[in-house]
Amino acid sequence: MYMELDKKDIDVIHEDDLIDVLKKIGFYDKLLENKVICKFCNSTITLENIHSILPQSDTFSFICDNPTCIETLIKYLDNKSSTNLDLNI
Ligand SMILES: [Zn+2]
Repeated sequence: MYMELDKKDIDVIHEDDLIDVLKKIGFYDKLLENKVICKFCNSTITLENIHSILPQSDTFSFICDNPTCIETLIKYLDNKSSTNLDLNI
């Protein structure tokens, strides 16, 4: 007997949706002002390099499209299986 893992695909949000999402969560202006950084490598997040938005308890974390960060994110999510990563906000 084994547990069947419910693996969610980690997709890049379409850019139009992305801007909507960023506006909805109040980070669009911050992103334009280069005030948003990657959770893992501290690079400035832009519309070009944003990979994922990670809802936290009271804020949002952002992950850039650096392959190392994407790998770290996947491991991070595996370790925190209770985290609800909803990229289809
Ligand atoms: Zn990064």
